[in-house]
Amino acid sequence: MPLFLEALSSHNDVVSGRLAAVILPGKRKMKNRDRLAWILLVLVIGTSRAEPPKCGVGVVNITPEKGVPMAGYYSERFADGVHDDLYAKAIVIEDRGAKAALVALDLITTSRWLIEESRKEIELVTGIPGSNVMISATHSHTGPILARMSQRYDLQGGKNDAATKYMELLPRRIAESVRKAAESRTPTAVSFAAGREENLTFNRRFHMTDGTVGWNPGKLNPKIIRPAGPTDPAVPVVVFNTLDGKPFAAYVNFAMHLDTVGGTQVSADYPYSLAKQLSAAKGDGMVTLFTIGTAGDLNHINVTSPTPQKGHAEASRIGTLLAANVLRSFEQLQPLGDGPLRVSRRIVKLPLPPIASGEIEKAKAVVDRMKDKTKPPFLDQVNAFKVLDVAGRLGQPWEVEVQVISLGSSIAWVSLPGEIFCDLGLAIKAGSPFRQTMVATLANGSIGYVPNRVAYPQGNYEVVSARCGAGSGEMLVDSALDQLRTLFRSVVDSHSSSGQQKKER
Ligand SMILES: [Zn+2]
Repeated sequence: MPLFLEALSSHNDVVSGRLAAVILPGKRKMKNRDRLAWILLVLVIGTSRAEPPKCGVGVVNITPEKGVPMAGYYSERFADGVHDDLYAKAIVIEDRGAKAALVALDLITTSRWLIEESRKEIELVTGIPGSNVMISATHSHTGPILARMSQRYDLQGGKNDAATKYMELLPRRIAESVRKAAESRTPTAVSFAAGREENLTFNRRFHMTDGTVGWNPGKLNPKIIRPAGPTDPAVPVVVFNTLDGKPFAAYVNFAMHLDTVGGTQVSADYPYSLAKQLSAAKGDGMVTLFTIGTAGDLNHINVTSPTPQKGHAEASRIGTLLAANVLRSFEQLQPLGDGPLRVSRRIVKLPLPPIASGEIEKAKAVVDRMKDKTKPPFLDQVNAFKVLDVAGRLGQPWEVEVQVISLGSSIAWVSLPGEIFCDLGLAIKAGSPFRQTMVATLANGSIGYVPNRVAYPQGNYEVVSARCGAGSGEMLVDSALDQLRTLFRSVVDSHSSSGQQKKER
């Protein structure tokens, strides 16, 4: 090997195309063979990234104590045991000095208060700007209530000591997961792929023979005509490998409600089995970080089958099938090309739904009846808590965050603040210029259900529950797409300007 090639190869990771290009013009008397080697080297260096990103993963147990009030339903439940532990999981990405973190919590939701406290703490212990951290919840219905969130949760034990203590400790535990991830940073080969899982997730709203739109109308219901909305079968995966090829983290996103387990034992629901199966196949050293896609109107109930679908066996079935899908994607991973880490974030003001006169008094009466342990009709309860939350805004629109994190020109993560209808997530994916766009919901706070505009006049559960007015979901989509396009252009511009500099030399 000619001397200059040896010298370069020993510094391969820091050599840039510029250095090679500067030395190339015939200052030395090269043999033709050496010239050819030079040209090849310049091509290789010019098209591969100068330095791989540094990534790390961190996990912290956030299982609550026995006796904590549990989230998920409109009835009071207290945890009396643990089926499987809950975790805060974090992936930290560093590229050319910029850092960002992706965090997933095995919890029902996130609140703005929790996000702000956690980001402050993360900034303090890791130096990663809070604004570069995306924190989402998986929507487990078998975890603790998050205290200080709503009247509904207060009524379900959200003000008890166990709930308050849990909430006080949570931001520090979340920050600890990010600290661990930051500390374990190592040069990383990032790759991505997306499988399709057609048979797990279903739209739970249906056009019915009486002209209404039904919500979870029940298995084999003869009045069902067809689903009232789409599903999103995509299972996007991002895999983080050490440079010697060991996977240490897999980011998996899927749009389907987590409500398969039920009961009073703490559980992370189907992502527990997903992570377990992937570890069994890829090694305990690999952490699976699951986030839920736009699943506001999607769940696992197949109304065309009479088979019961509740409990840990069902969660295990779903987690295992999803794991099989992810393992197939491992065979199709594409390496991430060169490109910077970019983060963008905007606050979007969402309108409130109209509240008719007399509704507040009616809502208060419903809640009073619930305090007396009598059970008003389900949708009356749902509407009452909505009306009181919206009335509490005193006419002020919601201020919610939409965040986009991109790595290179191929992959991007979007955060949306609630339980978002599937159609809205599909619009983001279809309009995004990135090859693989992942949408994490219940992220960076939540305002509850966000139906698409079409669903509002159709009514039923999610619409009755929605704290934001018609058109809010489309505003979130517009913000996400605008940010995705802006980030993509900035990445492409940075590529073409460095290409331009090369040409000018
Ligand atoms: Zn839900």
